[in-house]
Amino acid sequence: MRLILLGPPGAGKGTQANRLVGKYGIPQLSTGDMLRAAVAAGSPIGRKAKAVMDAGDLVSDDIVEGIIDERLDQPDVRKGFILDGFPRTLAQAEALDAMLARKGMKLDVAIELKTDADQLVSRILNRAAEAKAAGRPARRDDDPEVFKARLAAYYRDTAAVTPYYAAKGVLRQVDGMAGIAEVAAAIDATLAEVK
Ligand code: AMP
Repeated sequence: MRLILLGPPGAGKGTQANRLVGKYGIPQLSTGDMLRAAVAAGSPIGRKAKAVMDAGDLVSDDIVEGIIDERLDQPDVRKGFILDGFPRTLAQAEALDAMLARKGMKLDVAIELKTDADQLVSRILNRAAEAKAAGRPARRDDDPEVFKARLAAYYRDTAAVTPYYAAKGVLRQVDGMAGIAEVAAAIDATLAEVK
């Protein structure tokens, strides 16, 4: 199963991707997680990405495309993958197509978690508050102002990715504002259809 989860920050892509990892035994490829690891490691990519991420902007296409290109060559990806947070621009979507074609892989489906922008802001405030209550460090980019910048980047650069997959006939949509279990059931039903 090769799938992409689409939707703005805070839509629940990470939560659902995590669950699908357990269910299908395929890895979650999250460019956000990979970039945060690069920042924590202080690697050259991490040093380049840090300020951009802290501001809620998008890291350059060539950096994330390079990360995904390498990751798709790892053996655990042969059984499939869940892309979470990539592609985030039309150029990334086109680059992904070229990469998959070169590697002899075919995408099964792109699932969009449909959302409401206002509700997302309160959801992300909760995520930060929950992390704080649990003694976990909140993500720096879950700060309300930075989150609004991330949301703006989504509507500016990433919203165009959804019609791209619709035109290819692989887009499916589920209601991302429903509860976690309901969203999970809708995704499972969608995957059962396309498998
Ligand atoms: P995420 O955890 O997916 O919300 O990503 C956190 C941050 O990492 C984003 O706000 C961007 O700064 C950066 N990032 C993650 N994935 C991408 C991507 N595909 N393209 C550009 N920047 C990205």
